[in-house]
Amino acid sequence: MHQENKLGFDTLAIHAGQKPDPVSGAVMTPIVLSSTFAQEGPGAHNGFDYSRAGNPTRDALEGCFAALEGAKHAIAFGSGCAATTTILLTLKSGDHVVVGDDLYGGTFRIFDKVVKQFGVSATFLDMSDPAKVASAVRPETKMIWMETPSNPLLKISDIAAIADIAKKKNLILAVDNTFATPALQNPLALGATLAVHSSTKYLNGHSDVVGGVAMTSDDALAEKLRFLQKSVGAVPSPFDCYLVLRGLKTLGVRMRQHVEGARAIAEWLASHPQVERVLYPGLAKHPGHAIAQKQMRAPGGMVSFDLRGGIPAATAFLKALTIFACAESLGGVESLAEHPAIMTHASVPAENRRALGIGDGLLRLSIGIEDVGDLRTDLEVGFAAAKRAAS
Ligand SMILES: *Cc1c(COP(=O)(O)O)cnc(C)c1O
Repeated sequence: MHQENKLGFDTLAIHAGQKPDPVSGAVMTPIVLSSTFAQEGPGAHNGFDYSRAGNPTRDALEGCFAALEGAKHAIAFGSGCAATTTILLTLKSGDHVVVGDDLYGGTFRIFDKVVKQFGVSATFLDMSDPAKVASAVRPETKMIWMETPSNPLLKISDIAAIADIAKKKNLILAVDNTFATPALQNPLALGATLAVHSSTKYLNGHSDVVGGVAMTSDDALAEKLRFLQKSVGAVPSPFDCYLVLRGLKTLGVRMRQHVEGARAIAEWLASHPQVERVLYPGLAKHPGHAIAQKQMRAPGGMVSFDLRGGIPAATAFLKALTIFACAESLGGVESLAEHPAIMTHASVPAENRRALGIGDGLLRLSIGIEDVGDLRTDLEVGFAAAKRAAS
């Protein structure tokens, strides 16, 4: 084994967790589809007995994930939501969680509609102000759950400051790191207990897998999650593990290109007459710019903006695009555009959306790695259609 802690990110992305197959010498990790593994005698095996409990392809993926996030343990799941739900199963009835108010719609739904039934309660608040987080902690609080940059408003919260609060009060801090990826931000190094990802997004990067992962360097918590992974069984298939492992190899390269494109598009949108405001942490006037610079290596590939003209303009804009697909999700090599109020954040009640600032003209772009000039031309077609619809 090489000393993985000494290698750079792009090297780890290609090699960590993976070594040539000892049987065939295959350089690429084999997809081991077998659900069961032969034992020499009852209980005598070399680590694998049944694929829900453990699988060689999944092992390789978990090894690569852990190396990239700088975690001792990575536990892979069949989706980001499966990772979130399994983490929340470490809690018990009566426990309370402090949760960011601007977060992935499906995560909100798990807190609001799923774990609530089992007696786990949540307080939602704006985490860009750490003082609010500290004052929301109660005697029964066990966990803080944050997302930064947040979805869809790209708000930035100070991970190190909130980790301080969590440490003082002996709470688990879980950070959803999906938008930043380990290439741009490492929550565990900033003091978080858990880094959570939807690997459906940038980690896989090709929009052809649904997956998730929880990572931690806390041995006791990892043991609990390992037990729940096996017991609940929300595990990814070996084929999906292989695809994500393949996608991870280019994570660093892709993120550099996503960031370059997003930065150019955000700056261009900022001076566009049909744009009311641009939300991109890389812009100097973004309220979270300074903290983003402190805790992220680059501001990421997501850009949100308010288009003038409300729903009719936004609808015409999205329908006119030909390179950007009008679709939910993000983080693939191809560019996507969506309307959070109607699409990804429909599960957030309308009054909450309004209070948060998710308006009828808000559009969210996932900037792919196509030629940025072509992306800008496509958006210009959208703006022209929006103008016709609004007049
Ligand atoms: C997509 C997403 C999730 C949920 O992941 P799935 O893989 O769709 O279950 C969680 N958090 C964020 C920030 C996401 O974008």
